[in-house]
Amino acid sequence: LSKLLVVVTVSGGGLVACAEANQVNSQQITNLSSEVDLVSKKKKVVVLGTGWAGTSFLRNLKNPSYEVQVVSPRNYFAFTPLLPSVTCGTVEARSIVEPIRNIVRKKSVGVQFFEAECIKIDAQNKKVYCRSNQENNLNGKEEFVVDYDFLVIAMGANVNTFNTPGVVENCHFLKEVEDAQKIRRTVIDCFERASLPTVSDEEKKRILHFAVVGGGPTGVEFAAELHDFVNEDLIKLYPGVKDIVKITLLEAGDHILNMFDKRITAFAEGKFHREGIDVKTGSMVVKVSEKEITTKEMKTGEISSIPYGMALWSTGIGTRPVVKDFMRQIGQANRRALATDEWLRVEGCDNVYALGDCATINQRKVMEDISAIFTKADKDNSGTLTVKEFQEVIADICERYPQVELYLKNKQMGDIIDLLREAKGDVAKESIELNIEEFKSALSQVDSQMKNLPATAQVASQQGVYLAKCFNRMEECEKNPEGPLRFRGSGRHRFRPFRYKHFGQFAPLGGEQTAAQLPGDWVSIGQSSQWLWYSVYASKQVSWRNRALVVSDWTRRFIFGRDSSRI
Ligand code: FAD
Repeated sequence: LSKLLVVVTVSGGGLVACAEANQVNSQQITNLSSEVDLVSKKKKVVVLGTGWAGTSFLRNLKNPSYEVQVVSPRNYFAFTPLLPSVTCGTVEARSIVEPIRNIVRKKSVGVQFFEAECIKIDAQNKKVYCRSNQENNLNGKEEFVVDYDFLVIAMGANVNTFNTPGVVENCHFLKEVEDAQKIRRTVIDCFERASLPTVSDEEKKRILHFAVVGGGPTGVEFAAELHDFVNEDLIKLYPGVKDIVKITLLEAGDHILNMFDKRITAFAEGKFHREGIDVKTGSMVVKVSEKEITTKEMKTGEISSIPYGMALWSTGIGTRPVVKDFMRQIGQANRRALATDEWLRVEGCDNVYALGDCATINQRKVMEDISAIFTKADKDNSGTLTVKEFQEVIADICERYPQVELYLKNKQMGDIIDLLREAKGDVAKESIELNIEEFKSALSQVDSQMKNLPATAQVASQQGVYLAKCFNRMEECEKNPEGPLRFRGSGRHRFRPFRYKHFGQFAPLGGEQTAAQLPGDWVSIGQSSQWLWYSVYASKQVSWRNRALVVSDWTRRFIFGRDSSRI
């Protein structure tokens, strides 16, 4: 029986997969798609991933002339910004996920979903090799091949450990819903273990030391959530361990939240300091063993070890192996993410698109364009502009390149930006002249970073919407290749390049306080931003079911506190 040949035929679809149970490899897979192709004339779109990018593409695809197949190892969409809340039971895991079949159920476009992971992309033959990830499947892990006319790669990224020894074996990550659930259980485990009569005081101290590696938004939010959980709920239930619990936040850079405005960074560091969260900046983790974290001081090079009970590793994102393999095939081996043009088409491939965390837009012309804008503004060729002129030029640049705006807002240009900020409406300061070359050379130092949009849900979901709109109109564009250039209506159609619109970012800091950095250099920190955070995150849920569940979780937490059962 185990040798039985399993043949899967998907009616009306472009997929026929055939796999020998248990011992299958890609050579053994027989692809019968061409037979089905004769039946179906619709263009086949294969979407890899059901995260922010993939789901937003699917939700916005409206043209029924496509036949869509979705491949993802998880059959749901997860609202990642609320994952830190799941780690401490502020919000339940099921409240922030929505089955992908529910999301695509009412669509006019035919969508089929396969719970499987893509294991290889063959862009030359337009095929995607997949493997079912149902561990308990009696037939074992089945493999199949999907053909495509258009491929949308939205597989996200995995955790970047920088090859630090011991991280994979000993640290928790916070990327998936399962990670958050595991963290929740481990936190309770630590408290229960520390309460056992056999455990020595020193061991108790170690077990109740929670180390968070990485001072970015995820690390900071987890540290804040954990602090609230401990102080609002757990100390009432475990009074004996009250004074032993410790949270340490380790960050290799000079500050935590360094992608945020200086004011937010300073507030967060001050708040954590007051609350007893130990923020160790300039401290790089070089090794993690079962019970100790080894760090190196960036300034002095001093090596030291800290005993810990639970560690969370959140130091940024890396490339998934399947994406890496694909990048090698298409000559992009030396990059971190798939390079696309501004229409999200993968460079060097036909009909392959990449969006979200697994992709990066290759904007070679950013610095050239910026130079041209400066040259135009410098009418008398003096190499200088007044502060007022500078402000106008920068406003123009920011409109074209929101990612540059992010960098400018985030103190990268130091003195010049401070001067521009201060000079608003101050006539005396507006007439000060600034050197263009100085500014450009500072800008070019962050040039490579400027080209990359931040790896956020906001970017991924806007890219999904953009690409779906292009797909909705692609047929019309092909039918009308001539005539006046139009973006809407009839005539010759073209797509505008993708432009990211930044709506701001939040950093929840615990104790009902959130920092918000909104467009227009607007920073707000405190309870009012917390309410803004509640409203935005409730409204951004993908379904009314999620919205109702999340709001009721928040209400339950206000009334009854968080649940500390270890289930
Ligand atoms: P993902 O959402 O990660 O989706 C990737 C999809 O690909 C998943 O469905 C996955 O199952 C699937 N996949 C993986 N491997 C394969 C494979 N081999 N074959 C097929 N499919 C595969 N961003 C914000 O803007 N604001 C926030 O507040 C915020 N908070 C965050 C908090 C946390 C804890 C985390 C982890 C991230 C947060 N982010 C936030 C970042 C945001 O979640 C990501 O930028 C976003 O998820 C990227 O979307 P994506 O679609 O590219 O990838």
